[in-house]
Amino acid sequence: MNQPTDNHWPLTEALESRESIRLAKSYGLFVNGQFIRSSGSKKYWTINPANEKRLSRITESTPKDVDRAVRAARNCYEKHWSRMKPSERGKYIYRIARLIQEQSRELAILETLDGGKPIRESRDIDIPLAAAHFFYYAGWADKLKYAFPNRNPRPLGVAAQVIPWNFPLLMAAWKIAPALACGNTVVLKPAETTSLTALKLAEIIQQADLPAGAVNIITGHGPVGQSLIQHPDVDKIAFTGSTHVGKSIQTALATSGKRSTLELGGKAANIIFADAPIDQAVEGVVNGIYFNQGHVCCAGSRLFVEESVYDQVIEKIKDRIDTLRVGEPLDKNTDIGAINSKKQLAIIDQYIELGTAEGAHLYQPDCPLPDSGFWCLPTMFTDVSQSNRISREEIFGPVLAVQTFRTVAEVIKKANNTRYGLSAGVWTNKGSKIFNMTSQLKAGVIWANTYNQFDPASPFGGYKESGFGREGGLHGLAAYLALK
Ligand code: NAP
Ligand code: MG
Repeated sequence: MNQPTDNHWPLTEALESRESIRLAKSYGLFVNGQFIRSSGSKKYWTINPANEKRLSRITESTPKDVDRAVRAARNCYEKHWSRMKPSERGKYIYRIARLIQEQSRELAILETLDGGKPIRESRDIDIPLAAAHFFYYAGWADKLKYAFPNRNPRPLGVAAQVIPWNFPLLMAAWKIAPALACGNTVVLKPAETTSLTALKLAEIIQQADLPAGAVNIITGHGPVGQSLIQHPDVDKIAFTGSTHVGKSIQTALATSGKRSTLELGGKAANIIFADAPIDQAVEGVVNGIYFNQGHVCCAGSRLFVEESVYDQVIEKIKDRIDTLRVGEPLDKNTDIGAINSKKQLAIIDQYIELGTAEGAHLYQPDCPLPDSGFWCLPTMFTDVSQSNRISREEIFGPVLAVQTFRTVAEVIKKANNTRYGLSAGVWTNKGSKIFNMTSQLKAGVIWANTYNQFDPASPFGGYKESGFGREGGLHGLAAYLALK
């Protein structure tokens, strides 16, 4: 792994130690403040995708377990959490934030072991941002009337929350922190392949001494998410995941009158104008698509380059791809970790084959891959056309599809020619061009001369088939409140 090649300096292995983590052989469900056994007997292994070794056994919840969790949340909502003085609620949420910070090293290692992302990312991005979300929303708990003046903010009740595997703890924080701050209680289902940090968060919630039932965490596969979302006694649904599942949820909720937010897929355009600072833009493109193995809903998976700088940009991207290190996620030198699951790797590989079959030109570095585990080289396709499936469909892997343009009108048309509308990036040294682009691109988040920047105060969410509703900032609070 990481053998020196022409383009790789021979770096000494710098493995993060696993000594600080405590991993149980088997985990139950976190319901009503306790870890409990399921009413059924099914368990499954969660594995390390970097070597396919088993980590822990996770419980498959039954519909009876789901019902128990919802009842615990309802009871806590009515008797404790919604009646508590908001400043007291805020203190509990602050406590969670502090405990995440204190245990950040263990959380980062677990996130990397279970999900495959480089330790550098879980340590420097996922875990600090998760703590930041709890800090941010703790601050709002007793200021809701100032956030929404004359609108009599009231909680909604029990929130059913289902999250994906790409940012496991961070997605849990995005969902739990605003729900609690607004006085709601929660039942959360993490993704089947990445439940460990959610279960660790359950331990933190116990340590923070939250009233029993304020947060419940139930594990299992898709059908568990489905029975949670369809439970008659939940008041609000918050889902992050694929557009396909999001559509089925929306259909099922159509006549229920329940509040919902859906954060779904994306196929973002990253646009480089000839007047852009090219080196920074190339860094942004590499970050935009290869960060977290491209397992990012807002990944800049479509690159549009102004024709006059095309050759220069492509050469620079190739040079940069050649120096990326793919391998052991616990190594601090690693840039690209393991693909989250065998299933996801098969999807990405199919798209790579398809890209070549569609006539696009493939570029991958000459980088050795480990023998076991799920791996994908950073991949770039040039000579891509608008009609190619690799430029239309979400791949959710480290695969970039490059096209060119000559005019602003042309690139806006091409960038907006997608069923998604989550994010976009623009690279230029002209402020006026930035404003022109941001007002015409149909995307929920647009970055200018940067990419993949997140902050708890800034709302995030999509248009069209990328879903609706916003998480983060005041918009994220409003999603958990009844407002006059
Ligand atoms: P997914 O299959 O939709 O799964 C997401 C979550 O929903 C998982 O916990 C999953 O459980 C559960 N689930 C599956 N079927 C369900 C059903 N019928 N009813 C209720 N819950 C169900 O998505 P994924 O493939 O794991 O995640 C990748 C997708 O998420 C990508 O499309 C990506 O763009 C999107 N995403 C969007 C955002 C955003 O903010 N817009 C952020 C991150 C990811 P299992 O784990 O057991 O399948
Ligand atoms: Mg795993």
